Amino acid sequence: MSRVALVTGGSRGIGAAISTALKKAGYSVAATYAGNDDKARAFTDETGIKTYKWNVADYDACVDGIHQVEGDLGPVEVLVNNAGITRDAPFHKMTPEQWKEVMDTNLSGVFNMTHPVWPGMRERKFGRIITISSINGQKGQFAQTNYAAAKAGDIGFTKALAQEGARAGITVNAICPGYINTEMMSTIPEKVMNEVILPQIPVGRLGEADEIARAVVFLASDDAGFITGSTLTANGGQYMA
Ligand code: NDP
Repeated sequence: MSRVALVTGGSRGIGAAISTALKKAGYSVAATYAGNDDKARAFTDETGIKTYKWNVADYDACVDGIHQVEGDLGPVEVLVNNAGITRDAPFHKMTPEQWKEVMDTNLSGVFNMTHPVWPGMRERKFGRIITISSINGQKGQFAQTNYAAAKAGDIGFTKALAQEGARAGITVNAICPGYINTEMMSTIPEKVMNEVILPQIPVGRLGEADEIARAVVFLASDDAGFITGSTLTANGGQYMA
C-alpha cells in the first residue's frame, strides 16, 4: 500500500509542485489550503489530489483536519509543512498583528501540524517531517523581522525534534529555498528582477518549484533515512549556510 503524505498549502505555488511530485512518486497525497477555494478546486480537477481546507494556525482545526485525512487515506507517514505567509513591513512600522499572523502561521502552524501526527509516527516507527523554511530565516531580510524569526524558528524546531525522532525512525528536516518562480515573483517589476534580484543569485536565475519538490521527494524516501536534523539550502548559491 502506498504511503500517505500530507502537504500543507499544497494546492498552489511550491506546495502544489510538492503534492504533485509526491503523487507521481507513488504516495497517497492530501493537500491542505487556507481559503482559496477556486485554486484548490482547479488543482483537484487537474491532478486528482484531494484538498482539505483549514487554518494551520488553529491547533484544534489541525487535529480535526488530520483526523479527516487519516479517515480518508490512512495514517500520515510524511508531513510536509509548507504553508506560509508574508506580512512585510520595516520593524518601526510593523504592527503586532503582522508579527502575530506570521508567527502563528509559519512557526506555530508547524507545531500545530506536527504535534498531532507525532504519536502515530512514533508508534509505527516511521515518519518524515519536512518543513519549508526560507533563505530569509538563515540570513535575515529587510522588512521581514516576523518572517525571518518564524523561519529561523522552523530550523531550530527541526534540529530539536530530529533528536527526539531519531530512535523512533522519524527523520525531521528543513529545506530553505531562495527565490522561487511562483505567483509571488510575477508581481515584482522586471527592472527590480533584472537589476536587483538576479545579480544576487550566482546561477543567474530563479529556482523552480519542481526543484524544491524533488528535494522533498528525496527527503521523504527510504534512501534518506540517515539524513535528519539537516537544513537543505536550495538557493542557486545566493547564501551558503
Ligand atoms: P503561496 O503563497 O503560493 O501558497 C501558500 C499556500 O499556503 C497556499 O496553498 C495557501 O492556501 C496556504 N496557506 C497560507 N496560509 C495558510 C494557513 N494559515 N493555513 C493553511 N494554509 C495556508 O506560497 P509559496 O508557494 O510561495 O511558498 C510556499 C512555502 O515556501 C512558504 O512556507 C514560503 O514561506 C516558502 N518559501 C517561498 C519562497 C518563494 O520564493 N516563493 C522562498 C522561500 C520560502 P490558499 O491558497 O487558500 O491561500
